[in-house]
Amino acid sequence: MNIEKYSIGIGDRFGRAGAAQMRAVRSAEALGTVVVPVWNKSFREHSLIGTRPDDVRAEADAAVRGAEWRHPYHVDADHIGLKTVDAFVDASDFFTLDVADFIGHAAPDAAIATFVSDMRSLRKTVNLRGVGAPLEVTDAMLERVGRQYLHAVLEASKTYRHVAERRGSRDFIAEVSVDEAAEPQQPWELFFILGALARADVPVQTIAPKFSGKFLKGIDYVGDVDVFAREFEAHLEVVEQAIAVFGLPPSLKLSVHTGSDKFSLYPAMRSALKKHGAGLHLKTAGTTWLEEVIGVALSGASGFRVVARVYREAVGRFDELCKPYATVVEIDRSRLPSPAAVEEGTAEQFVRLLRHDRGCQDYSVDVRQLMHVAFKVAAEMGDEYRDALGSAAQTADRCVTDNLFERHIRPLFIDA
Ligand SMILES: [Zn+2]
Repeated sequence: MNIEKYSIGIGDRFGRAGAAQMRAVRSAEALGTVVVPVWNKSFREHSLIGTRPDDVRAEADAAVRGAEWRHPYHVDADHIGLKTVDAFVDASDFFTLDVADFIGHAAPDAAIATFVSDMRSLRKTVNLRGVGAPLEVTDAMLERVGRQYLHAVLEASKTYRHVAERRGSRDFIAEVSVDEAAEPQQPWELFFILGALARADVPVQTIAPKFSGKFLKGIDYVGDVDVFAREFEAHLEVVEQAIAVFGLPPSLKLSVHTGSDKFSLYPAMRSALKKHGAGLHLKTAGTTWLEEVIGVALSGASGFRVVARVYREAVGRFDELCKPYATVVEIDRSRLPSPAAVEEGTAEQFVRLLRHDRGCQDYSVDVRQLMHVAFKVAAEMGDEYRDALGSAAQTADRCVTDNLFERHIRPLFIDA
């Protein structure tokens, strides 16, 4: 099973946006670009919301059938490891092996020594395109890379083999993610990580590095766009060379996590993809939930009351809600409006705070990030939230489709 050139990870917290999400990829298809949908939901999201991997599979199958989609689609067991993968084995055909936590923990000395000797043959081929100056590969350098990354690679290999055994087949897509690591990986490091994965017999098809700058939930990139653009292009070149040098699957491509709403990066990413003819997987998840919230708020007085209640609870439970997302949200609490002020205002005023519209003076990155992690509150409200979402379906679905297509798929995968 090979991943297609362009794919988009689409989360769906409440499992009812599938049809609206399919309309977005159908719009791309109508313009001649196939962007394959991949429903991703992590163990963390399932536990916070009380859903199971089988629910995602059922939703994806139904959405795809309903849309008469003739291309592939996938269900991603997002950010799993050996401890969490079992519940996903049957429902998923895409597995994101998250090994960020194992970076920096040294593998056994003997394993490192074998890695160093296996990689020695590469000395003549390390004029890596895209990386700048030729790489001075020495045993000491390989050993440093081994100490930093080999343990993580071996862990990915263990989880990969476990999934293959449980499924009785290697016919699934393996992603390896290190995006939640403390430090970004340099492109040349990515080259050796990919080499180590090939050596450990992991046919990785998408790799999610940590890029420099901040990738925060639901808001734009925070950092130097030019630095990112150079780094992104170097990573693309490294991936291309790793396929050739290490015999990795030709479908191997980059995966960008927390990739929604990074509007200032998409033009540079688009032009690099075009220049190199490269593919990409973009993971988005919470952006769909936020569009649903906007739809509920705008659907009428009772919808707005439900959303205002979610906000009130979220402010009250700030620490609890932010904790699981500590590395990917940065909220200035002092800039949040009081729940009373939101309740006294109008739905339109709240939506101006929440909607990711960089041209709007009222837009608040703080409100948006807080609402991003507040889906747990809505899940706990049970039928009250689900009914509100049901009644708001028309508005919410339109928001979901437009956001995915106009603001994500079009600038990243289609625009000239
Ligand atoms: Zn991630």
